[in-house]
Amino acid sequence: MVAFSASGTDRPSSPTSRVSALESRVLEAIDDEETLQLLCDLIAEPSENPPGNEERCAQLLASFLEQRGVACRLDQAAPGRPNLYAKVGAGGPTLVMCGHLDTVPAGEGWTLDPFSAAVTDGRVYGRGSCDMKAGLASAAAALLAVNKSGISLKGSFALHAVIDEEVGSAGARKAAAEQHAHWAIVTEPSGSQVLARGNGQLNFEIVFHGKAVHSSHPEDGRNAIHDAAAFVVLVEEETRRLSGSGLAGIGPATYSVGIVKGGRGGSTVADRCELTLDRRVLPTEDLEQVEEQVRLLLARLGTERPGLDWELSRTVAFPPLKGSGNGPLEKVLTDVLADIGRPVTEPRPGMRFATDAAWYEAAGCPTVVFGPGDVAIAHQPDEHVALGEVELVSRALALCGVRLLT
Ligand SMILES: [Zn+2]
Repeated sequence: MVAFSASGTDRPSSPTSRVSALESRVLEAIDDEETLQLLCDLIAEPSENPPGNEERCAQLLASFLEQRGVACRLDQAAPGRPNLYAKVGAGGPTLVMCGHLDTVPAGEGWTLDPFSAAVTDGRVYGRGSCDMKAGLASAAAALLAVNKSGISLKGSFALHAVIDEEVGSAGARKAAAEQHAHWAIVTEPSGSQVLARGNGQLNFEIVFHGKAVHSSHPEDGRNAIHDAAAFVVLVEEETRRLSGSGLAGIGPATYSVGIVKGGRGGSTVADRCELTLDRRVLPTEDLEQVEEQVRLLLARLGTERPGLDWELSRTVAFPPLKGSGNGPLEKVLTDVLADIGRPVTEPRPGMRFATDAAWYEAAGCPTVVFGPGDVAIAHQPDEHVALGEVELVSRALALCGVRLLT
């Protein structure tokens, strides 16, 4: 950990009179220095995915919580890749805070060591600082504060630190299906805003098959790259058509082609071209319906280009966060934010990115996304998070736990 000098712009203000004496006791139990140290330790322990080496981070977080009296359990969600379940209190109802342990690979272009956890001007830098070790540290701080305050809960306040969000969400799928929860807060970077609805994500691999011939006689073959290019044009038109769709604060459904690969050489007609297609899915849509739209686009292309030969497979599938039944949870969190001096502004934002919230909602649990950091700086070199936001979110999560469980 390097020198700490806070700018303080996002720091929580003094609690209002709406915060009870019991709640004040919990707020006073929050130790921001300890939370900062935990965040730096988590950043300094790489957990890039791929390859998916979250185990040491899970162990680090477990020993931090256990040393402070919180019961923890590691549960293998994939070989050598454990989820961590921690909780305060017992029985139901259960409020879960969920965060993922993995990060995207550090990548190129950093001006500082991505694992040094440098702290400067009120920000912590490093891969995973924003997405989403800050969210995990805030959730751990909330759990510890409730535990340390000694208040008795009517139910359980829990943390699920899960593996694999950046690739296949094996961790959250297992946690949401097996660990029953009554409410869930996914502490992904939301700019400390409560996000009650958000887009899902479908990725496809599409392979176009052609016929290789000498390119001096292209009419005797079938050029798979040309077929793929015609599909890309169709997808662009479709993106323009969808630009008026969507909900306030969430934005339209979108298509984006991520990778195009094809061809064998300059003088050979390409017999194969693969592309990856990303489709963001609105809360008013579902995954099956959207896959059918993509198949219809390909079928339409087939009528324009007879003999078109394609295969389509799903590679990523996150359902959208529809917001089913999450109004009461959203209200408790927005009230708590107002009570610690951060009233919610209208119109309320939604979420354009997909998160593990989808799996908790799919398991029947009302879920929102609320965490520190700006998702626009996630997955980039010099990723960082403002400490003031970590402090604000720690307090809001702790008070939310108290209000729902006492
Ligand atoms: Zn994330």
